[in-house]
Amino acid sequence: MQKVSFFKSIHVKLVLIYVLLIVIALQIIGIYFSKELEDSLKGNFQDSILQRMELVQYSIREEMLKESNETNSTSTTTPTPESGIDAILREFSTDDINEIRVIDRRNRILATSDRDNQSMVGQRSNDDIVRTAMSVEALQDNIALDKQTMPMQRVWVLAAPITDTVGPNSEVLGAIYIESNIEKVYEQMSEINRIFAAGIAVSLAITIILGILVARTITRPISDMRKQAQAMSKGNFSRKVRVYGTDEIGQLAIAFNHLTNRLQESQSTTEAERRKLASVLSNMTDGVIATDRKGKIILINEPALSLLHDTRESTLNRPIASVLGLDQEYSFEDLIHMKESVSLDFSTSDAPYILRANFSVIQKETGFVNGLITVLHDITEQEKIDMERREFVANVSHELRTPLTTMRSYLEALADGAWRDENIAPTFLNVTQTETERMIRLVNDLLQLSKMDSQEYELNFEFVEFNKFFTHIIDRFEMSKSKNVEFLRLLPETSYFVDVDADKLTQVMDNIISNSLKYSPDGGNIRFGVTVHENMLRVMISDDGMGIPKENVGRIFDRFYRVDRARARSMGGSGLGLAIAREMIEAHGGRIWAESEEGVGTTVFFTLPFELDGAGDWE
Ligand code: ATP
Ligand code: MG
Repeated sequence: MQKVSFFKSIHVKLVLIYVLLIVIALQIIGIYFSKELEDSLKGNFQDSILQRMELVQYSIREEMLKESNETNSTSTTTPTPESGIDAILREFSTDDINEIRVIDRRNRILATSDRDNQSMVGQRSNDDIVRTAMSVEALQDNIALDKQTMPMQRVWVLAAPITDTVGPNSEVLGAIYIESNIEKVYEQMSEINRIFAAGIAVSLAITIILGILVARTITRPISDMRKQAQAMSKGNFSRKVRVYGTDEIGQLAIAFNHLTNRLQESQSTTEAERRKLASVLSNMTDGVIATDRKGKIILINEPALSLLHDTRESTLNRPIASVLGLDQEYSFEDLIHMKESVSLDFSTSDAPYILRANFSVIQKETGFVNGLITVLHDITEQEKIDMERREFVANVSHELRTPLTTMRSYLEALADGAWRDENIAPTFLNVTQTETERMIRLVNDLLQLSKMDSQEYELNFEFVEFNKFFTHIIDRFEMSKSKNVEFLRLLPETSYFVDVDADKLTQVMDNIISNSLKYSPDGGNIRFGVTVHENMLRVMISDDGMGIPKENVGRIFDRFYRVDRARARSMGGSGLGLAIAREMIEAHGGRIWAESEEGVGTTVFFTLPFELDGAGDWE
């Protein structure tokens, strides 16, 4: 899971924003507050000083006016108002006033409240502020640094003119100079500011803690959801986000859980669909191959792989035309437009192997080709059956044409007048009769085979003691044989009972024995044997005849198969006898095969299920 670094987390960002906002707000409040406080404290201080100054101003004016009247009436040359003024100054001097000075109109200091500095009385005043106050006849003030104190303190310096009357035509009598200690106000202010700052620090600390807690309530569900989203991307849908409340984030968490459920549902449906499709694809017998729009294989099912004898690794992402071995004849474009199916011939000299491929295009509504689906069937068997059928028809027509053409020529000769010749006519008629019989036999054989093919025949089972049954057939052949062939019976003493259709089995054995007779030389042997192998009765008929070439032995049970057609036909065979025999023996639950060596002899074996006691209804 990707970690969100601490400083980039929303939690920290929220707290930071919150704290910054509070700091800014407090800062603004603080500035406003201290400004207002300063104004108000300073105003109060100055008002109180001014009030007192007015009183002083009034008292001194009165004193000065009184003294000037006295001076005018008594005409004393050295007026001494100082003592009266001194008394006033003493009365008014307080803690917050450093010094009060009274200056007369000629800029001479008349009195000072400063006890340590009485020497300045009578001297000229150098203060500009006093001169300005007298000349403009208005109150002057400024804040200055008192150089006598260490560290230097701020003082409020005031100079006010003293006039004889109040009004436009007044005359300036002198001025008052007041130096008040405003530093106390500033000290008070910084004390208040300190308290205020401490308050801010405490409240900031509390709000930071609260902010962290509040931010947690927002960020915790969000980080929960983040974790869940990450788990979901890994396919884990079991987690649920905790819902902490009903606010927007709570709603979001509910919606998120809902989304998880829906996603899980739709994912499991998709997964089920995918599995269904996969199982359909792998369980169908046809091979299916899908390509992308460029013809590269993107999906191939098991049957397709086994039909093509290929592996998934070597086929995926390869062009389909080359996998199907069609790249010489067709391009992918050709396959897209292919309407008919294409036969893929993978036959080798040993075995035929033919596949059929059908193509269908995956197309969008716009006609844009998105891919190609190829379906493969194994049609080897079908092709083989088709070929056999064609061969069969050719064989039948050939077999019928030979006797028919023979008959036609004989009948033509008879019609041309041979019928009148008493020597030739019977022979010719005899030939046509033989050929007709041969045709009838052939047609009967074919009918029998066709019945067997369509399972239309019934077997009439009966219990037969096999040795007795076999001996009976051999006897019949021995009596009617035309060749000098010796029959050797290798039959066991034990009685073996078989449940068979006696007529059909007789037909089978007739054919095998007549073949042996047919192909045996004069003076040869034919051996008849019965043994038991693997719980089956094994019957053997063996001759010393011309034999069959090794490679053809397996084929003598095929329809119309004869080792040497010309000779066999001259011996009256059509090649259906053993084919019928095989069908019959298999219908009885047995097996038939032959072993042979050219020039040495042939042995035909067949097996039948048997029982040791004849509980059946044989006689
Ligand atoms: P049909 O039996 O229909 O009259 P057929 O005897 O030629 O004709 P099958 O009995 O099916 O046909 O035998 C098929 C072929 O197998 C024969 O044509 C013959 O070439 C060969 N064959 C069968 N039995 C022997 C044998 N004992 N010795 C040598 N060749 C044999
Ligand atoms: Mg035969």
